[in-house]
Amino acid sequence: MAEHDLKRLFRIQELEQKLIRLERFRKTSPETQLVNELQERAGKFQKLQSVLDKRIAVAQRSVRSRELALAAAEQSQGAVRERLYEGGITNPRELSQLEKRLAELTVQVEKEETDLLQALEELETLEAQKSKVDAAEAKARRELHTAQQKLEHMQSAWDLEEAMVRDELEELRSQVSPSALALYERKKASTEGTPIAQVIRGVCGGCRMTLPASVTALRGAVTSTCEQCGRILYWPD
Ligand SMILES: [Zn+2]
Repeated sequence: MAEHDLKRLFRIQELEQKLIRLERFRKTSPETQLVNELQERAGKFQKLQSVLDKRIAVAQRSVRSRELALAAAEQSQGAVRERLYEGGITNPRELSQLEKRLAELTVQVEKEETDLLQALEELETLEAQKSKVDAAEAKARRELHTAQQKLEHMQSAWDLEEAMVRDELEELRSQVSPSALALYERKKASTEGTPIAQVIRGVCGGCRMTLPASVTALRGAVTSTCEQCGRILYWPD
């Protein structure tokens, strides 16, 4: 392989590795992580909101039915009381039955009142919880919006950096002989994407093996590969 091809391929490899690092950084950058966290938090609050909405609807129905039950009991109580105090009933047995009925209805009205109060308290508690969750959700959403804007700003910088790397890559690829490029691409599968190893102080940069003197003596005058990892050896200038 021509020396200039090897040199360019090594630069291509560096740029490809840079793209991989960039991609990884995009996923793990603090800005990305913050957006993910805030999205999750806002989502949790939204779920809580929908649970509370359902429970509030149930509590509202309960209050409504207690109100109706109380009104019905009060109405019956009023009707019996009216009959008793009209004075039209003189039969002692009938009177005593009506008094007994009035006493029962009075107990029932009290019970309905207690139940209604309890239902109202439950509704109030739920509504108080809901307004707290609403506030927390709104705060999380505002924070998410800010974080998303910051991330978008970072992303445009990353996009630019990536575009520059891709431009350089494209130009370099067009300058390498097709056969050298094909060999490079072929070797990627067996070398974890890095077919070229830089030789530094007689050591293969791909697998850290000390190269035999027969190889290092040539210093790349002939294209050679590492016996251990199979990478094409590259001597930097
Ligand atoms: Zn090696």
